[in-house]
Amino acid sequence: MLRTHTCGELRMENAGQTVTLCGWVQRVREMGGLTFIDLRDRYGITQLVFNMEINPSLCEDARQLGREFVLSATGKIAERSNKNPKMETGDIEILVDRLTILNTSKIPPFTIEDNTDGGEELRMKYRYLDLRRNVNRKNLELRHRMAIETRNYLNNEKFLEIETPYMIKSTPEGARDFVVPSRMNPGQFYALPQSPQTFKQLLMVAGFDRYYQLVHCFRDEDLRADRQPEFTQIDCEMSFVTQEDILETFEGLAKQLFRSILKMEMENFPRLTYENAMRLYGSDKPDLRFGMQFVELNDVTKGKRFRVFDEAELIAGINVPGCGEYSRKQLDELTDFVKRPQVGATGLIYIRVSPEGTLRSSVDKFFTVPDLTAIISKFSAKPGDLILILAGKCHKTRSALCDLRLEMGTRLGLRKPGTFKPLWVIDFPLLEWDEETNRYYAKHHPFTAPVPGDITLVDQYLSGDQKADLEKVHANAYDLVINGVEIGGGSIRIHNKDLQKKMLTVLGFSDEDAASQFGFLMNAFEYGAPPHGGIAFGFDRWTTVFAGADSIRDFIAFPKNNAGRDVMIDSPAPIKEEQLKELNIRITI
Ligand code: ASP
Repeated sequence: MLRTHTCGELRMENAGQTVTLCGWVQRVREMGGLTFIDLRDRYGITQLVFNMEINPSLCEDARQLGREFVLSATGKIAERSNKNPKMETGDIEILVDRLTILNTSKIPPFTIEDNTDGGEELRMKYRYLDLRRNVNRKNLELRHRMAIETRNYLNNEKFLEIETPYMIKSTPEGARDFVVPSRMNPGQFYALPQSPQTFKQLLMVAGFDRYYQLVHCFRDEDLRADRQPEFTQIDCEMSFVTQEDILETFEGLAKQLFRSILKMEMENFPRLTYENAMRLYGSDKPDLRFGMQFVELNDVTKGKRFRVFDEAELIAGINVPGCGEYSRKQLDELTDFVKRPQVGATGLIYIRVSPEGTLRSSVDKFFTVPDLTAIISKFSAKPGDLILILAGKCHKTRSALCDLRLEMGTRLGLRKPGTFKPLWVIDFPLLEWDEETNRYYAKHHPFTAPVPGDITLVDQYLSGDQKADLEKVHANAYDLVINGVEIGGGSIRIHNKDLQKKMLTVLGFSDEDAASQFGFLMNAFEYGAPPHGGIAFGFDRWTTVFAGADSIRDFIAFPKNNAGRDVMIDSPAPIKEEQLKELNIRITI
């Protein structure tokens, strides 16, 4: 090896040893007859010293070095006269007597420091330099440790890691596919997997019993901070299990990660039905780091000649503790917040409970003091509290109130990065009606099993009973949520051909489409498919949440930007005319 030690490991007990270090120049400083260089590698920084009096030509050489030059330096370790307690190696320095420049560097386009001067776009373009910064290195180290712990846990539980193909046929997970043209099959395309869903089910048919894979998935959808077109899942499947077995196994995985990575012993995760999650938090991924549960007010607010309430399907509010003295300006700000198109409420009603207990509201004209008292007692509001109320269509009101609750949680500093509140959301509806396309969609995916008791509703619907409300069909489906972020989700699957066919019919597949797209799976179900179920976790997202961060991009070595571009390699990019010809593709734009 070119080095005897790394730049992070030398301490006082090594004093007197002669060592060779390799690394990058972080900084060169001159002080009188001395030149100091901070030499950096993945493990840390060590100070090199050159003395003009002892070795003038070497010292001269050192003064010529630029940032990010790559060096090999040999010398004796000495105790520093001016120790730096902020550096792990801050007690020592290397008195260099041999220096080799392994490579030069152009001046980097931004500083390789924790607080860099480089903007996002520039750092993405020179991602390999950005990755030299501590933050990014630490993020990838965390990711690595999460992967190791996950594998350890699953291996101990007898799961086998099995790879599935990347060039497949469409699996509907609710996004668009990325496709790959086939040269050997003109006019035909592979699809990149949105997940290995059907393959992992086939592995269960094959008898593998417990499968997992840290696997790339590809989804062509609009990007946000917590989405990338290409991301990693911890994908898992088990045979001969109930929903309870799956929740226990993977709660075990989550607890193991909390224990080993964050040094936290977690209590059993609470479980909330989808219905209650929507009713109490307006979201199927509630942030439980703070309270402010929704309180529904239809019974105490209707019939007071206040049109907004009288015409509303739902009137619901939250109690924000300690904000009873919010000023007019602050309340106007909140009104503006809920009226933003992304939130979509038409207005905000408030009741302030002053520290003395007097009530002042924006609906004093319609509500007497006893009326207001009846409302605030539903919240068990105390002097100094602020009640915020929204009204309108049920779904929209819940969703806007969810945004308002999160906004208040953020304003009050209740969504603390170091606090973790995991929960399971269970009993999801199987299907969702879409107004625009006028049809049902699978809430999870088409392979999720309805709960056995609800299958009769599906049969009724298929036999033409218009009244059969398919939105009432529940699924054995579950999500793991941490701090308001969906970390993973899964379900018990259909393992019977007839039921799978029925579900595909409900989802609008013709018999031919069902057979051509999923015939392979339904055929497999005819050869002894065991009952099975599974789950997949968003690995990038989980790592991001554990780090208390927001953007999954910071936990991916080479991510894409918001337009789905890799600005470093400049992709996607056109391909050569010959290549297009070979693929039988003609571009018409
Ligand atoms: N394949 C599903 C997904 O990607 C997860 C699962 O059902 O196991 O969301």
